[in-house]
Amino acid sequence: MRIVRNRLIPPKRFDAINLFGVLFCRDRLRVTEHVIRHESIHTAQMREMLFVGFYIWYLSEWLVRVFMKGNAYHNISLEREAYAHMHDDDYLTHRRPYAWVKYLGKKRKKGKGKKKKGKR
Ligand SMILES: [Zn+2]
Repeated sequence: MRIVRNRLIPPKRFDAINLFGVLFCRDRLRVTEHVIRHESIHTAQMREMLFVGFYIWYLSEWLVRVFMKGNAYHNISLEREAYAHMHDDDYLTHRRPYAWVKYLGKKRKKGKGKKKKGKR
């Protein structure tokens, strides 16, 4: 992944932005392998959505989620896939196309399986 460090892109309150597969980041950002994998997952999403489709979907989903419970950014399906697999070394070798779609639904709460119906 090509990384461009600079002082203009992204705006100050952000650390990095992936524009068409090129990572623009602030000078201070420590670019770890996990950051690169997170952004590479976004690049894979972009390719399958022909780049422009990615940005349209991303902004549209963010606009919907802004009015929903929780953090809109972290709840975007594209982000949920990237955060869920950024620590998986070979995720991109076995990732299925449009894998982010399964993150459109509600988040499952950790540690809570299906409740058994108990007798009273
Ligand atoms: Zn992201």
